[in-house]
Amino acid sequence: MVVTAPTNGAAGIIPAAIEYLRRDTKVPAEKIKRGLVVAALIGFVIKENASISGAELGCMAEVGTASAMAAALFAFCFDAKTNEIITAAEIAIEHHLGMTCDPIMGLVQVPCIERNAKGVVKAYNSFLLATTRESEGLITFDQVVEVMRQTGKDLSEKYKETAKGGLATSFGWGNMPGS
Ligand code: SF4
Repeated sequence: MVVTAPTNGAAGIIPAAIEYLRRDTKVPAEKIKRGLVVAALIGFVIKENASISGAELGCMAEVGTASAMAAALFAFCFDAKTNEIITAAEIAIEHHLGMTCDPIMGLVQVPCIERNAKGVVKAYNSFLLATTRESEGLITFDQVVEVMRQTGKDLSEKYKETAKGGLATSFGWGNMPGS
């Protein structure tokens, strides 16, 4: 079963976050469920104002969105304040900006799977940053979503699920390290 939260390519991040919360914390199941609604809200705002499609904006829209959703989920489950939940999501997106979608042979496999693993770690770190920082953030969640939209529009089509650039075409080069 694949739960597209928000997409197939980024379907590992939310489940990984849930597994961590279920297995390694004492967060009640009901709270995790409510946290998923918060995560869904974050994903919905991004979908409406930018995109959650790698074919439209690159991988930042898929893995970046999933990471922002998971960051909000973590923050909610660990009793962060509302502004900290939103800041956690903002930070997660910020550090995915510019990430290309360049799956080898166009298959949602490499680098996608590892990006999911990294995305959930970034989500947790974003939650930590949002809840421990002492300074005020300079950029809002809405602003970073708009930046993601603009950055994605500027990306070459080569990096939007076409497998025409980046990792997709460098795979198998004779001059690559280890080849
Ligand atoms: S690289 Fe492309 S296909 Fe893979 S997860 Fe990112 S957006 Fe999806």
